[in-house]
Order: sequence, then structure tokens, then C-alpha cells
Amino acid sequence: AHEGILRRQSLRESAARTYARSLPIVPVRARGLTIEGADGRRYLDCLSGAGTLALGHNHPVVLEAIRAVLDSGAPLHVLDLATPVKDAFTTELFATLPAELAERARIQFCGPAGTDAVEAAFKLVRTATGRDGLMAFSGAYHGMTAEALAASGGAQRTGVVRLPYPYDYRCPFGVGGERGAELAARWTRSLLDDHKSGVPRPAGMILEPVQGEGGVIPAPDSWLQQMRELTASRQIPLIVDEVQTGVGRTGTFWAVERSGIVPDVLVLSKAIGGSLPLAVIVYREELDAWPPGAHAGTFRGNQLAMAAGAATLAYVRANGLAERAGELGRRMLARLADLAASHDCIGDVRGRGLMLGIELVDRGADADATGARPADPRLAAAVQQACLDRGLIVELGGRHSAVVRLLPPLTITDEQADAILDRLADAVTAAVR
Ligand code: PMP
Repeated sequence: AHEGILRRQSLRESAARTYARSLPIVPVRARGLTIEGADGRRYLDCLSGAGTLALGHNHPVVLEAIRAVLDSGAPLHVLDLATPVKDAFTTELFATLPAELAERARIQFCGPAGTDAVEAAFKLVRTATGRDGLMAFSGAYHGMTAEALAASGGAQRTGVVRLPYPYDYRCPFGVGGERGAELAARWTRSLLDDHKSGVPRPAGMILEPVQGEGGVIPAPDSWLQQMRELTASRQIPLIVDEVQTGVGRTGTFWAVERSGIVPDVLVLSKAIGGSLPLAVIVYREELDAWPPGAHAGTFRGNQLAMAAGAATLAYVRANGLAERAGELGRRMLARLADLAASHDCIGDVRGRGLMLGIELVDRGADADATGARPADPRLAAAVQQACLDRGLIVELGGRHSAVVRLLPPLTITDEQADAILDRLADAVTAAVR
């Protein structure tokens, strides 16, 4: 079955598929951290549905919540009507938000995907400010629809001003550390204040507190605070994209809590749907300038996703899984640092909570002024393959696809964390041989 399904699907499906190209797995069963393929092989899944599975695959509380909706006879699809299931989801979500936002927040259900919520956020700030331009950061990822894509990646696109994101290991200013972050902030300030530069005041600024697809790059708290201050003092709405960092992943329930910044618009998806498709924006009520019907869409009422999401949010909160992710992440990062110390093909290890990245570099090449060596995407792909051979699923990311990313469920045990790192260490050793 395994080979037949793979062959038929690779004939019928577009070559644009991403995960399927590097992961020739046919999953048929899954629980927690583990996926089982049609060939009977078992894998530790550190991709977690691209960071969606806060509680891992098929967590009992998620399954129970879905079953309860099915058994209740509730409609599965309700457009954007009010329902008890939606009410419970919204109440639970608001209970997790920073108090300053929750007190005066509005929510808009945007559709199934993170990119839907990003589009809605852009449209909202444009309507609210009457301005048009956007500011986004180098290496960002916000989605694959037109506007979200324009705000992603390195390419310059009309209407989006791209600003430097603080990246310690490959500092755009060649200095790294706090000083690099300070120079990145100064760049943004001067663009906002230099009226001769021709950059008009934008409708909004969008950022990720930790860049995920961009290579697991955590922004320093001081830089985030400066972005908050710079935007607030110029009446520019700050949109924080927590599609990947949310729901405990980085060690706090929302990643913004660490720096204490309060966004004007919070973009949420992935884990908030408890593994089913759901995306929302939450924003300060003053921004709610939309006339009725201004932002519609058919699939904004997936009751199963709301129920699975509410159960996930409640479980993460009740069991302190954000703190657990922070603590386990620090331990895993310490072990990764040991691994880097004994493998000079590892240029950098970094992350926050259970969002971890290992950057592979060309060990034969010279380091630049800050000690960074050229990225080695071929080696990263070899490590990913060696991981797969050892029953470990990891994803690649980063500017050069040379960062191995780990996004395990927040529910993993210490033993499972060790098993992940044992297999990864073994894979790195095998790949450089
Ligand atoms: N924003 C961020 C930070 C993401 O990581 C992603 C997905 N990786 C998106 C937006 C887009 O979400 P989706 O793929 O559901 O459209």
C-alpha cells in the first residue's frame, strides 16, 4: 500500500507539494509524538503539522471535544452565526490574552488558514487608518496568498517596505548581539522619521516575535519593545503574527508576553484549532472600523475546529504547558549547544521553548567578521534524510534552507525529548561523514 499510494499521489499531485518531497511517508495512524506509516514504520514527529499540534496527534481531550460536538447534533457548519461552541471557544481564547488586550478586544473569524488571518489584518489596518503601505521584515513568513506573500521573504514588493530583522548569527549589520538589534531598530526609526525618504506613514507593521520559517530566529525583547514604541508613538497599528509562536510554544502562552508588548492586532491560527483549520484576528476595538459585511467568507464557522481549539487552549492553560515548554526547551537547547561544540558543521543553535533551530554551515569555509560561516543547505538536507532514516521527522527552514527545525508537541516527556536529541545527534554525525 505504502509504495502504491506514494506513486499514485506523486503522479496526480502537483510538484509544488512541499513536505511530501522530503518526507516519503504515508501516515495511517498517529498518537502524541508518534506517527505510523502504511509500511508499519514509526516516526517521532517533530514537524507536528507545521507547528499546529500543541498537544500532539489525536490527544484524548481533543478527540473528546470533537466527539461531543458530533454527538450533540450541533450543525458542523454555521457560517459566522453565534453558537454555544463558538462562545466557549471565544471565552477560552480571551482568557488567555494579555489583560490589556482582552479587556477591549474584538475577534474576527477569518477562515481556515493563517494566511486568511494575515490578509484580514492588513485589510483591517488599512480601513482603520485610511493609509495603504505596510512594513514587514526580512526573512518573515506570513503565508502564501498575495498580500501575505508580499510581506514575506526577501523580495522587495510594491507597497511593502522591508526592514531588517535582528538576526544574531547572521547580523545584517555585521555586529550581532544587542548592538545588532539596536542598529536594526535605529534603521526602522530613521525610515519612519525621514520624510524625505519618500516612505509614507504605513497602514501597519507586521512582525513575528520568533521567525519560524525564516530559520527560528527569536527577536530580542528590547527590539520588540522598541518596535512597539516606534509604532505606538506614530499611530501605526502593530500586527503581531503568532500563527506559529502561539499557544505555549515559546514558553509563554503568547510569545509577546515575554517582552510585555501588547499588539494592536494579533494574528492567530495553527494550534488554536487543536489540529483542525481555524484562523482569527484579535484586535483593539478602536480599530474596528469595518462596516457590516466588509469582511466575509464562507468557512468561518467550523464547529469541530472551535471545539478542538477550545479544548487545546484550556488544556495548555490548566496544565502549565507553556512553562513546561520553556523549561524543556532550555534543557534541549543546552544539549544542542553541546552537540554544536563537538560538530563544527553546526554554526548556531537557538530557539525559544519548543521552537528550536540548528543552523548547518560549511565547516571548510572561512567565517565572516562575526564568526558566521556560509549556510550549507545540502548538508541540512542530508541531516533531514539521516533523521528520517532514524525515524525522526524534522523540517528545514531559514534564508538558505539550512536550518533544521524542531517543533515537537508541548506534551512530550523528558525521555521523548532525549530520544529526539539522540536521533538528531546520530543523524548529524552520519551526515557529515
Ligand atoms: N504566519 C506564520 C508565522 C506562519 O508560520 C505561517 C505558516 N507556517 C503562516 C503565517 C501561514 O499560515 P497558513 O500556512 O495556515 O496559511
